[in-house]
Amino acid sequence: MGKVSIGLRGWRFDESAVFTDDGEIMAIDAMDPETRQRVARLREVIGSPCHACWLLHGDENLDACNVAAAVYGEPLSEVVVCDVHEPDFLYWYREEGGSERRGEPELQDAFHEWFLDGGRAPEDYAGLEHVDTDPTAVPQVSGTTSAAEAEREANTVDLDSLDID
Ligand SMILES: [Zn+2]
Repeated sequence: MGKVSIGLRGWRFDESAVFTDDGEIMAIDAMDPETRQRVARLREVIGSPCHACWLLHGDENLDACNVAAAVYGEPLSEVVVCDVHEPDFLYWYREEGGSERRGEPELQDAFHEWFLDGGRAPEDYAGLEHVDTDPTAVPQVSGTTSAAEAEREANTVDLDSLDID
């Protein structure tokens, strides 16, 4: 059993912790508490603005913020980033000492501080190769304009079917 992301890149789950033997997403009640907390938080984070965009634009310009593409860190102190700013987070995490905060609630503040200080990934920073989403877990969606949109929509549908309250 491998690891998969659901809805957003970043957080990864043991397949056996989120899928039944039949490959269906497990009922939230059937998940172990840690997984349940993360999946529930994930649902809230999907569709929320990228933190880096928000630091740049603020609440008064929420329309200018991109929507979350990836989530890192711990639930409730997570870092949410869009496609544009994910390399900045990954660069900070790997090259600027961010990984020292791994598992700590301070990770979010530390990244925000670095970013506000002008911290950015170099132009040519390749970032991470995303080989994380199990394509079989994502329902097919047709009639959308871009692959990214289709994926986002598929992921939303996927999570909505989890029926979390
Ligand atoms: Zn952003």
